[in-house]
Amino acid sequence: MEATEIVRQWQQVRGAVPSSVEVIAVSKTKPVDAVEAAYAAGARSFGENRVQELVGKHEVLTAPEGGRSSEFEGLVWHQIGTLQKNKVRYIAPFVGLIHAVDQQGLLAEIDKRAAQCGRQVPVLLQMHIAQESSKFGLSPSELEALLSALDEGEWPHVEVKGLMGMATFTSDERQVAREFAGLRSLFEQHGSDRGWDTLSMGMSGDWGIAVEEGSTMVRIGSAIFGSR
Ligand SMILES: *Cc1c(COP(=O)(O)O)cnc(C)c1O
Repeated sequence: MEATEIVRQWQQVRGAVPSSVEVIAVSKTKPVDAVEAAYAAGARSFGENRVQELVGKHEVLTAPEGGRSSEFEGLVWHQIGTLQKNKVRYIAPFVGLIHAVDQQGLLAEIDKRAAQCGRQVPVLLQMHIAQESSKFGLSPSELEALLSALDEGEWPHVEVKGLMGMATFTSDERQVAREFAGLRSLFEQHGSDRGWDTLSMGMSGDWGIAVEEGSTMVRIGSAIFGSR
């Protein structure tokens, strides 16, 4: 897609989403030029779901040794998709937020790699809210077990900032709203005492419903960059 079209679509999305809600521009499968166009238009947070692609774009645009990092100040990379444990070490040094943490083993790996980098890595816990069995995520009881361990001081190099979830892919808007409302209620139940500030829900097709149901962060790909 042309840079001018990306700029126009970014402005349209950013103008439509309430200003209190952060928009993550999901640039997966799109070239570095597309990221540059959206950055020039004002986008600062970019989402990728494949580690190799994320690392590749970071190396070209934002790595300190890459030479262009001063052109992309404030650009934050989000890992939004399923993350394999053996890939964590590649993103631990620079990733701004990992959205889809749904196992204790993955948290342990992030903690280990974050410690090696001398940083604390921000993460969201992904909840299973969709009807579809293919979507990943924790059950409410798995969430409670994980939070008990966290509260006891496990994984000190991981900073849990909130929850993330993906609704069922359906035209039934009431079902989508119900699933997002369920996620928001878990977010409030577990997050109010823990200082959570991030509820990542909503994509190109359902962000309006997600925002109505209390989302603080939407992940928008095709509505900005075109279909994949
Ligand atoms: C691809 C992707 C998105 C963006 O999807 P669009 O429908 O293109 O907006 C959001 N979240 C996750 C986890 C994704 O993998």
